[in-house]
Amino acid sequence: MGFEIIEEKKVDGYEKVVVAKVGPKKLKVIVAIHNTNLGPALGGVRMYPYENEEKALTDALRLARGMSHKASAAGVSFGGGKAVIIGNPSKDKSPEMWRDFGKFVDSLNGKYITAEDVGTSLEDMSMVAVETKYVTGLSELEGGNGDPSPVTACGVVWGIRAALKTVFGSDKIRGKKFAVQGLGKVGYSLAKNLAEKGAIVYVADISEDRVQQSEKELGAIPLDVNEILFADVDVISPCALGAVINNETIPKLKAKIIAGAANNQLADENKDSKLLEKKGIFYAPDFVINSGGLICVVGEISGYDKAESMKRSKSVYDTILKIAKIGKKENITTAQAAIKLAEARIHKGK
Ligand code: NAD
Repeated sequence: MGFEIIEEKKVDGYEKVVVAKVGPKKLKVIVAIHNTNLGPALGGVRMYPYENEEKALTDALRLARGMSHKASAAGVSFGGGKAVIIGNPSKDKSPEMWRDFGKFVDSLNGKYITAEDVGTSLEDMSMVAVETKYVTGLSELEGGNGDPSPVTACGVVWGIRAALKTVFGSDKIRGKKFAVQGLGKVGYSLAKNLAEKGAIVYVADISEDRVQQSEKELGAIPLDVNEILFADVDVISPCALGAVINNETIPKLKAKIIAGAANNQLADENKDSKLLEKKGIFYAPDFVINSGGLICVVGEISGYDKAESMKRSKSVYDTILKIAKIGKKENITTAQAAIKLAEARIHKGK
């Protein structure tokens, strides 16, 4: 049992990209380390039945670079990395595979730290942790900070406040109207937080149960899943899927602010952020506003708990204000300003 290195690839702009095979099924794993100027490269391991290695590599590179930006904008001392395993998470997993993956991660001597991601679970990470200490995002039972979603939601509330301050001159949530798309782990927690602060909260989810629960517990107002984005509200909070803001949905938006937890909200970051700007809609860049989860996961390595993570998620407020200022001063979109801010810190190395 063990892992087998197949090759190390030279990729421009990346520190290290290694391909290996793990487990009895000899599944291919790619670890991409984008940048470690700020600290070890942190990023989850995604398991997905990619059509071929090229597609898996493209995903690993894109996600690793995204993690560098996210960690930098969150102000934590970590770089960006990602692992992808080419395989079907419902058929191809095995404890041996996870232990081999753990050994592979360990062989990188702490340059890459792994965590749960799409297609992987907390249980999988427990197996990885048998072989390496370079794994985070563990359950509270195992000494980790547990589910980061409440911290993510807390950070989103701070991001919303900063967006309100930028657009309306006041960061008061009371009386403002919100539309939350997706009532999952983050969305529900966000809707609850907003309702408790006196907001008028509209919600939609494909799960009828979640919608009914939010009506009953939070006094939320349900909307059709196909209409929620176009509600006549102050803030739209995408908390379900990616790419929901695109050239078809933007012309129909009525809100003045987009500020939610979902990853990759814009279908085309460059084009769509310009369309939003043209329409006078403030976009809180997703990788900045949803960084509370990362702050929570980092706490496990840096030695602070979930309550402290909640406090630290307030940094999202200052970062969004800073991004708004850069965007205005340099006449660039908030999406471009966020990347600029993140890359400046990476180049400075602190
Ligand atoms: P989740 O799976 O718990 O919740 C997603 C919810 O969206 C579910 O309730 C689902 O029914 C609903 N949904 C799916 N399709 C929908 C549709 N078409 N319309 C309305 N609702 C729909 O996920 P989560 O952990 O709450 O994460 C939500 C988003 O935030 C994801 O994009 C995730 O990548 C991102 N994110 C999450 C965290 C975190 O800490 N959990 C951190 C950063 C980013």
